[in-house]
Amino acid sequence: MAHPKDRGERRRKLALLKERAASVISRKYQLDVDNEKVLQAAARQVNHLCNCSCALCGNPRRYIGEVTFQERRENADRFDR
Ligand SMILES: [Zn+2]
Repeated sequence: MAHPKDRGERRRKLALLKERAASVISRKYQLDVDNEKVLQAAARQVNHLCNCSCALCGNPRRYIGEVTFQERRENADRFDR
Protein backbone atom coordinates (compact mmCIF):
# COMPACT_ATOMS: atom_id res chain seq x y z
CA MET A 1 0.00 0.00 0.00
CA ALA A 2 1.10 3.51 -0.75
CA HIS A 3 2.54 5.73 1.94
CA PRO A 4 -0.33 7.79 3.42
CA LYS A 5 1.45 11.03 2.64
CA ASP A 6 1.89 10.23 -1.04
CA ARG A 7 0.49 13.04 -3.15
CA GLY A 8 -1.34 10.56 -5.33
CA GLU A 9 -3.00 9.00 -2.32
CA ARG A 10 -4.06 12.41 -0.99
CA ARG A 11 -5.49 13.34 -4.40
CA ARG A 12 -7.35 10.04 -4.61
CA LYS A 13 -8.84 10.50 -1.16
CA LEU A 14 -9.80 14.11 -1.89
CA ALA A 15 -11.55 12.97 -5.07
CA LEU A 16 -13.46 10.33 -3.10
CA LEU A 17 -14.43 12.92 -0.48
CA LYS A 18 -15.66 15.25 -3.24
CA GLU A 19 -17.78 12.45 -4.69
CA ARG A 20 -19.19 11.77 -1.24
CA ALA A 21 -19.88 15.49 -0.65
CA ALA A 22 -21.60 15.79 -4.06
CA SER A 23 -23.74 12.77 -3.18
CA VAL A 24 -24.81 14.23 0.16
CA ILE A 25 -25.47 17.70 -1.30
CA SER A 26 -27.40 16.35 -4.28
CA ARG A 27 -29.69 14.41 -1.95
CA LYS A 28 -30.10 17.40 0.34
CA TYR A 29 -31.26 19.69 -2.49
CA GLN A 30 -32.77 16.96 -4.69
CA LEU A 31 -30.51 17.79 -7.65
CA ASP A 32 -28.53 15.52 -9.96
CA VAL A 33 -25.15 14.55 -8.58
CA ASP A 34 -23.43 15.99 -11.69
CA ASN A 35 -25.30 19.31 -11.51
CA GLU A 36 -22.83 22.20 -11.84
CA LYS A 37 -24.02 23.88 -8.63
CA VAL A 38 -23.73 20.61 -6.73
CA LEU A 39 -20.16 20.08 -7.94
CA GLN A 40 -19.22 23.64 -6.98
CA ALA A 41 -20.72 23.21 -3.52
CA ALA A 42 -18.98 19.84 -3.12
CA ALA A 43 -15.62 21.39 -4.00
CA ARG A 44 -16.23 24.18 -1.49
CA GLN A 45 -17.51 21.98 1.34
CA VAL A 46 -15.38 18.88 0.79
CA ASN A 47 -13.64 19.09 4.16
CA HIS A 48 -16.59 19.89 6.39
CA LEU A 49 -19.96 19.65 4.52
CA CYS A 50 -20.98 22.92 6.13
CA ASN A 51 -22.29 25.58 3.75
CA CYS A 52 -22.59 28.35 6.28
CA SER A 53 -20.63 29.99 9.13
CA CYS A 54 -23.36 32.21 10.58
CA ALA A 55 -23.83 32.59 14.33
CA LEU A 56 -26.15 29.56 14.46
CA CYS A 57 -23.91 27.18 12.52
CA GLY A 58 -20.44 28.57 13.18
CA ASN A 59 -17.87 28.22 15.91
CA PRO A 60 -19.48 29.28 19.23
CA ARG A 61 -16.14 30.60 20.51
CA ARG A 62 -16.16 33.18 17.74
CA TYR A 63 -19.71 34.37 18.36
CA ILE A 64 -20.38 34.01 22.08
CA GLY A 65 -16.90 33.32 23.45
CA GLU A 66 -17.80 29.80 24.55
CA VAL A 67 -14.86 27.84 25.97
CA THR A 68 -14.08 24.30 24.90
CA PHE A 69 -14.82 21.25 27.05
CA GLN A 70 -11.12 20.82 27.79
CA GLU A 71 -10.87 24.42 28.97
CA ARG A 72 -13.96 24.03 31.15
CA ARG A 73 -12.45 20.89 32.70
CA GLU A 74 -9.14 22.63 33.30
CA ASN A 75 -10.88 25.61 34.94
CA ALA A 76 -12.90 23.25 37.15
CA ASP A 77 -9.70 21.46 38.19
CA ARG A 78 -8.12 24.79 39.16
CA PHE A 79 -11.05 25.80 41.39
CA ASP A 80 -11.17 22.41 43.08
CA ARG A 81 -7.65 22.73 44.48
ZN1 LIG B 1 -25.73 29.15 9.23
